Amino acid sequence: MTQTEQVLQNVLQEIQKTLAKQGTVRAVFDLDSTLFDVRPRIIRIIKEFCVDNSMRLKYPNATQILSNIKELSHSYYIKDHMYELGLQNEPDQFFKDIYSYWKIRFFHNDYVIHDEPVQGAVEFVQKLHQLGVHIEYLTGRDIPRMQLGTIESLKKWNFPIHTALAELVLKPHFSMDDAEFKRDHFQSADPNTEIWFFENEPVNIQLILKDCPKVKCIFFDSVHMGQAEEPRHLPTIQHFKI
Ligand SMILES: [Mg+2]
Repeated sequence: MTQTEQVLQNVLQEIQKTLAKQGTVRAVFDLDSTLFDVRPRIIRIIKEFCVDNSMRLKYPNATQILSNIKELSHSYYIKDHMYELGLQNEPDQFFKDIYSYWKIRFFHNDYVIHDEPVQGAVEFVQKLHQLGVHIEYLTGRDIPRMQLGTIESLKKWNFPIHTALAELVLKPHFSMDDAEFKRDHFQSADPNTEIWFFENEPVNIQLILKDCPKVKCIFFDSVHMGQAEEPRHLPTIQHFKI
């Protein structure tokens, strides 16, 4: 059994023990790069960049190379992706243009629907839901730009949503800090509930560990912003396949 499978099994066993004692359990999942692989979303944006006439004229070499990409590494920043694809010699303006292109589309309803669930994610969440665990999707995505697309995407992949036990929680406004938003959410929770939190951003986990020590954090090891040390002391998973 791999480390990931062992961690997931342990989580399931602990949850089942609590449920057997009539306890309440809440499983809280981050979305981007935890339940969902966002790389298909990024590829979609890059493809649109390549068929944009003004970009094709401006960057014939880069758009030619980028139009053929089929997969991406797990880098966080668009510039790193470009470097990995051999485009480090493009002019500075190219990186500015593709970043702006990425930025206005990545955080948008029309593009989140291109995400794909990470391996085993749908089945794992469904299983907890069937056991009677309260499911929460707690995301740094914001309501105005991303709520509709997020609901559509969760439904498309059969994640439980809009049931008595499944709830989606987004930031009311994009300018709010992700970590503080999530921390505040946990602080308002019923203290008698057992809470599990699955998250890929070390900076978010760090604040939750500090301010909400009862929350059981599981580090999802995919990609992150690099703003805090990876919490390697925590149970760590790379997928949700049991
Ligand atoms: Mg995330």
